[in-house]
Amino acid sequence: RSNAQKYEFQAEVSRLMDIIINSLYSNKDIFLRELISNASDALDKIRFLALTDKEVLGEGDNTKLDIQIKLDKQNKILSIRDRGIGMTKEDLIKNLGTIAKSGTSAFVEKMQTSGDLNLIGQFGVGFYSVYLVADYVEVISKHNDDKQHVWESKADGAFAISEDTWNEPLGRGTEIRLHLRDEAGEYLEESKLKELVKKYSEFINFPIYLWASKEVDVEVPADEDESSDEEEKSESSSEEEEESEKGEDEDTEDKPKTKKVKETTYEWELLNDVKAIWLRNPKEVTDEEYTKFYHSLAKDFGDEKPLAWSHFTAEGDVEFKAVLFVPPKAPHDLYESYYNANKSNLKLYVRRVFISDEFDELLPKYLNFLKGLVDSDTLPLNVSREMLQQHSSLKTIKKKLIRKALDMIRRIADEDPDEAKDKDNKDVENSSDDEKKGQYAKFWNEFGKSIKLGIIEDAANRNRLAKLLRFESTKSDGKLTSLDQYISRMKPGQKDIFYITGPNKEQLEKSPFLERLKKKGYEVIFFMDPVDEYLMQYLMDYEDKKFQNVSKEGLKLGKDSKDKELKESFKELTKWWKGALASENVDDVKISNRLDNTPCVVVTSKYGWSANMERIMQSQTL
Ligand code: ADP
Ligand code: MG
Repeated sequence: RSNAQKYEFQAEVSRLMDIIINSLYSNKDIFLRELISNASDALDKIRFLALTDKEVLGEGDNTKLDIQIKLDKQNKILSIRDRGIGMTKEDLIKNLGTIAKSGTSAFVEKMQTSGDLNLIGQFGVGFYSVYLVADYVEVISKHNDDKQHVWESKADGAFAISEDTWNEPLGRGTEIRLHLRDEAGEYLEESKLKELVKKYSEFINFPIYLWASKEVDVEVPADEDESSDEEEKSESSSEEEEESEKGEDEDTEDKPKTKKVKETTYEWELLNDVKAIWLRNPKEVTDEEYTKFYHSLAKDFGDEKPLAWSHFTAEGDVEFKAVLFVPPKAPHDLYESYYNANKSNLKLYVRRVFISDEFDELLPKYLNFLKGLVDSDTLPLNVSREMLQQHSSLKTIKKKLIRKALDMIRRIADEDPDEAKDKDNKDVENSSDDEKKGQYAKFWNEFGKSIKLGIIEDAANRNRLAKLLRFESTKSDGKLTSLDQYISRMKPGQKDIFYITGPNKEQLEKSPFLERLKKKGYEVIFFMDPVDEYLMQYLMDYEDKKFQNVSKEGLKLGKDSKDKELKESFKELTKWWKGALASENVDDVKISNRLDNTPCVVVTSKYGWSANMERIMQSQTL
């Protein structure tokens, strides 16, 4: 082009582009996310300016803040245009030719050795990812302060800028035309682009349209030749002839003179129909909207509602918005790979741009049954996973997320009329909200094990988690009860919380360890899940009450005046017995007041494995 001015890329940019072009990096999809992110940034900028100066938006189509994607299959061109702020000639030279930020050299080095293109956007070079899929790129841009220009480059170390005298005027904004490489043909498929937008850019704050083809039925005359004749006739016909034609139509009503054929038409199809509900005021979002959002987020399109959700904004040093959901059901493999995989189900967004949904650092393992998203304004956009994982804000985010998650789970219980039975919470008990009834039992059934794992793993939140614990007991009448409820039923003078572990309720109920406790009216918790044995190694006390395994040494049921006397009078017997059983079989033989009918019982030492633990360990090694 005659008016084109040639420029050399800054050496670092050139090196970067070489790396990108020769990259064998498989995830080439990222270019679209980068371009849409740039378009969205440009739209954010003009929108911001328009806050103080409405004039900048112009009129007509220029006021439409949207992103449009178009395909030209014949010429293998993918174009993305926005009506954002646009770039002046100077902007084009500066933004798409140099890397402004310092320390870029080190970054280019690193890219060269690691080849990880996820680093691409980290230093403000996301744009160049277009060369993953294109060998020639044109950037047409119109800024309010300048004429329309075209930037173009074949990534051969140079780019050219021309005043645009041949393309259609953009009004304002930028159109990026990617001349796709042969092997990038998949990006000419509408379905691929839809998938990518859904995956990476669904919650971009501006509408994203695709110029999409659509098969429509059109009626054409049954016989094409005849019809064109007729048309010609009627066009030039007199009134009389038209009348006679109508008559003819009536006569031949049964035999249609037209047929249906498929024709391809094009129209703008909106790709990001899910609104960014996390940006809205929670008071204005309906339950239905949250449910729908959950379905799309979790790709769980059943008709079940999530058990609970929490939508909040965190303020302070680290700002973020988040929506968390408790799914109605646990996935079948939730605990299968628990100790190997550490996959959180939270989507991480940074300033509305999706970063990752495999981000382990947001939630601890035991909460990985939650679904949701976090949108942070504090985290940097476009940094690598590795960089982000080390970002100092993450710790704060995680801490707040855990707190909110546990609050949310507790609310399921607080609002459940079934849970309120033994409490004085008449409001809830009398609530007509049937939907909330039995929800906590449902939660417990699906995710109770996660809470137990949490008690084991998360010392900082152990007490909060213990509050969420449910179990059966000698007094729960086959229903679930909580530690708080247990404590409210404790006998005067009872210091410890009693529990027993075993494989099932039938066996536990027959246990001689319970005889005297039952007779005296003490409540004993049944722990029947193998994980409970581990749990109780971590849960030492609750609300200043110690836990006492009733099958272990140390059970105290209040002092008995005869204790000392008995101990004295049976001294010889216990001594003899201890000798007879030999020290490799028993540690000690003692007089006890824990039994009623059964004459004697084998008790585990305080720090030893319970009989149930022995059983579990045995079954694991077999
Ligand atoms: P980053 O977006 O991190 O700044 P990029 O390499 O993606 O880095 O883009 C470089 C710069 O090019 C942007 O900062 C912006 O100034 C400019 N730019 C890119 N795309 C557009 C666009 N669609 N509209 C306006 N400016 C753009
Ligand atoms: Mg960018």
